Amino acid sequence: MGNTANHLSLCVSQSSRKTRRERPYVSRPFWQYQYENHLNISTHMSSDSQIREISPRRLLPIMNVDILNVYRDCPFCLKLLFEPTSTLCGHTFCLLCMERFILTSERVLQCPICRDDLNYLRSSSSHLKTNAILHNLFRQQYEKEYEIRRIETENERKQIIKKRFIIGNTHQLLSCDYDYTRHEWTLFVKLNNDDQDDISQYIKQVTINLHPTFTPSQVILDKSPFCLTRIGWGVFTIYFTIEFHPQWKKSDFRTSWFLSFANTGNQKRIEIEFQKPTDDINNDEMS
Ligand SMILES: [Zn+2]
Ligand SMILES: [Zn+2]
Repeated sequence: MGNTANHLSLCVSQSSRKTRRERPYVSRPFWQYQYENHLNISTHMSSDSQIREISPRRLLPIMNVDILNVYRDCPFCLKLLFEPTSTLCGHTFCLLCMERFILTSERVLQCPICRDDLNYLRSSSSHLKTNAILHNLFRQQYEKEYEIRRIETENERKQIIKKRFIIGNTHQLLSCDYDYTRHEWTLFVKLNNDDQDDISQYIKQVTINLHPTFTPSQVILDKSPFCLTRIGWGVFTIYFTIEFHPQWKKSDFRTSWFLSFANTGNQKRIEIEFQKPTDDINNDEMS
């Protein structure tokens, strides 16, 4: 039995060796042979030395559609991935779903699938780009559904207002005695300079938790400007909660700021999304 099996495999390898020998030798990746067999076309250099390219449209039928079906849905919205974007851990989501996830996650930002650290996306969500190959593949394979997702996403984007806030502190060194250094600092939450809107349109109040050595250690700011000035000798992390007006139907935003006594202080920028109130959406549609 063993001999027969060996004989068979010998025949196969001899015949394939023979086929290979008949072909002119062209160095190329192995997968091209597979495509060529499936499509029954030759990707050899033709006599006029032009390389024949296989268009993606011709490749698609031989791809395993089951694989596409397994990975087609976004883990966030459970709908067909639209403008698929992948994180460094290799997981793929809709671009809009991922943007929202970044904007609404508090503190630690982890991949919802593998818990990999995604904090690099918080500093700049411009790292996120649509994967052009997947985008075209899905658009082609699920033509009608993809178009529905495009319209949905477009409408969802219209209903979103993105606001850039600046969080940080100013700093001034008051005295620098041998045994006692005094710093005056002002913590602030404000809208980005180029934004003409009034911050009190969005923020109802800010609850600030200071180091327990301050009295009181919790301060609530319920009108703009949302600033708090104190005098102290050391830096620490200030935890605070921003509460929004009920019309935005938005949960509280919790964040922190590590005081900076470097020169005149420091600041960071955060982007917060708001869903347009229903009246505004209706007005937009009528105009
Ligand atoms: Zn999604
Ligand atoms: Zn992941």
